[in-house]
Amino acid sequence: MTSPDLPAVLASLRERVDAAAVRSGRAPGEVRILLATKTQPPEKIIAALRAGYSLIGENRVQEVLDKAEALEPFTPESHFIGHLQKNKINQVLRHVSCIESVDSLELAKKLSRGDREVEVMLQVNVSAEDSKFGFGPAAAVDAAQQIAQMEGLQLRGYMTVGLNSTDMGAVKAGYLQLAQLRDELGLPDATELSMGMSGDFEIAIEAGATIVRLGSAVFGARQAVP
Ligand SMILES: *Cc1c(COP(=O)(O)O)cnc(C)c1O
Repeated sequence: MTSPDLPAVLASLRERVDAAAVRSGRAPGEVRILLATKTQPPEKIIAALRAGYSLIGENRVQEVLDKAEALEPFTPESHFIGHLQKNKINQVLRHVSCIESVDSLELAKKLSRGDREVEVMLQVNVSAEDSKFGFGPAAAVDAAQQIAQMEGLQLRGYMTVGLNSTDMGAVKAGYLQLAQLRDELGLPDATELSMGMSGDFEIAIEAGATIVRLGSAVFGARQAVP
């Protein structure tokens, strides 16, 4: 089932994204919307691609593989945004151009020996919640410098899953910390900040996000994943 108003929903999100970009002193259109497509069937994703949105992200390898054949005629730019197991690297590399969720040096090393070159982002756990993958802010500095040197990888930036809290000041502080990390590292090609989801994307943009990852705001509430 694809909702007839998906293009309208996307257009109104695009407006909110652009307004937040302008508030943070940037041009409208500078912040990209990544469609977080987990649990969504290919028909719905294709409807969004037809509406002019081309950047998609999955967080489970099996879903990437299951949907690849249906989506590839539409040539989306496909990112991986979940915890990646090392034995699945080459499977996922066939279908995605960027792994946003590099959360260990072991994974980076294995990716650098993968079947082809790939763009990567460093996943940083700015909120330091135990339940989350990613480098702690202190470890991230050294990790980014090492990964930027690795053959076969192009470090494009930093990604985080924000603090799960209603305290929007605390959520924003985490996002500002990621922006500061990027600026302090100053690696010339590592400029992206992938941060912000349906509940907090405007705050993330105000803190400097260049990519926001939107799922439920686009597609509606998800069914629980078994
Ligand atoms: C599901 C998911 C999102 C989108 O979450 P929503 O709250 O539905 O917008 C963003 N990032 C990651 C890593 C996700 O797994």
